[in-house]
Amino acid sequence: MADNDKDGKSFKEQFIDPVAGFGVTFRTMFRKVVTEQYPFEKLPTAPRFHGRHQLNRWPDGLEKCIGCELCAWACPADAIYVEGASNDDANGERFSPGERYGRVYQINYLRCILCGLCIEACPTRALTMTNEYELADNNRQDLIYEKSDLLAPLLPGMEQPPHAMRDGFDEGDYYRGGLSTGPAGGAK
Ligand code: SF4
Ligand code: SF4
Repeated sequence: MADNDKDGKSFKEQFIDPVAGFGVTFRTMFRKVVTEQYPFEKLPTAPRFHGRHQLNRWPDGLEKCIGCELCAWACPADAIYVEGASNDDANGERFSPGERYGRVYQINYLRCILCGLCIEACPTRALTMTNEYELADNNRQDLIYEKSDLLAPLLPGMEQPPHAMRDGFDEGDYYRGGLSTGPAGGAK
């Protein structure tokens, strides 16, 4: 072609394209800055952001986890370790409604990829994820979270387990949602 130089480059490739590249830079200089000043300013995450896990409680403080290990089996990174045990009313050791509870519960955040498959697998909605994303530390041991690190805080009206199920309620009432509507010790 007539406007090609001896290297075979056209006028556009030699002069227009490089200037167009600077045009992108120039335009961007006038756009709103998106840099976040973390950790000095912490912005909220998207509502469904997958952060640290939480082990939830029933409205009376009993734990929702039944120690079934389904979350551990669902985890592709082998990050969850669960040991279940039996509730024992005779010895005042009831931590959840029903037969079993999670005696040991650990999540290894050195392995976890925050994929959320574990919360999908949980049959009791005991396990959910918060928006908390500050999961870094200067040693490996502190990134293995224990049950005490993951349990939801006690809200007003909740009592620290172990304790009995609410008077007049059985485990079915808990799972059918009757506990949230009935008064403590009241009718079903
Ligand atoms: S979020 Fe994913 S990787 Fe992390 S514990 Fe759950 S299943 Fe495992
Ligand atoms: S968190 Fe859910 S799936 Fe995991 S052991 Fe507890 S009840 Fe089972």
